[in-house]
Amino acid sequence: MNARTAVLFDIDGTMLFARGVGRRSFSRAFVEVYGIEYPDIDGISFAGATDSGVIRAMCATCGVPNPPAKEEHFFLRLARHLDEAMDALPPEVFPGVPELLAALTAEGVALGLVTGNLRSTAWSKLRHAGLDGYFTFGAYGDETPDRVEITRLALQRRPAGSRCGVLAGDTPLDIEAAHANGLRALTVATGWVSAGDLAAAGADGVLTDFSDTAASLALFQSLCEERICP
Ligand SMILES: [Mg+2]
Repeated sequence: MNARTAVLFDIDGTMLFARGVGRRSFSRAFVEVYGIEYPDIDGISFAGATDSGVIRAMCATCGVPNPPAKEEHFFLRLARHLDEAMDALPPEVFPGVPELLAALTAEGVALGLVTGNLRSTAWSKLRHAGLDGYFTFGAYGDETPDRVEITRLALQRRPAGSRCGVLAGDTPLDIEAAHANGLRALTVATGWVSAGDLAAAGADGVLTDFSDTAASLALFQSLCEERICP
């Protein structure tokens, strides 16, 4: 890895845990914008999901129309509630994440985001976690509900001349998005999926967490060399 290398990171479950503020903020903004209480907010799976995918599924479940102006208003409310909630309750950063991001940055690697979060909430989560200074590009869950497409957009935005071989994530949906874009999937079992299930889902590398910086860097290095997209 060097100054011409780029790598991609998912946020939730991979770098941090937002302590449930997302689910509560979704619930609150849904009532405010669509005028009804969502019947089963605890039954929604956010792992690997995208915010636009989740809100469209919630509206379909309730049979409420979701024209673009309403969805945009929902995103504004969601972002506001999340940002305020994290002022009081910042995310939990997983072991070794700041050290790993610092080590990759020290090698000159460009770090990008592939996340189902809205652009605004992605950066708010990173800022509240103290991780916002490491990332220079990315693609987000309010651009498209499809994580494969989000990954494609992020790759398009990597620094000119850089080559990217790895997407780091925590769910089978991250693995699918990596492979569909010609990337290796480096997974970490700090989210909601076990190391065994990540391996069974086809991950190219699995770590329990990022606490061993040298071992994590070595895995990034080997996977970057295995699969380099042009
Ligand atoms: Mg995730």
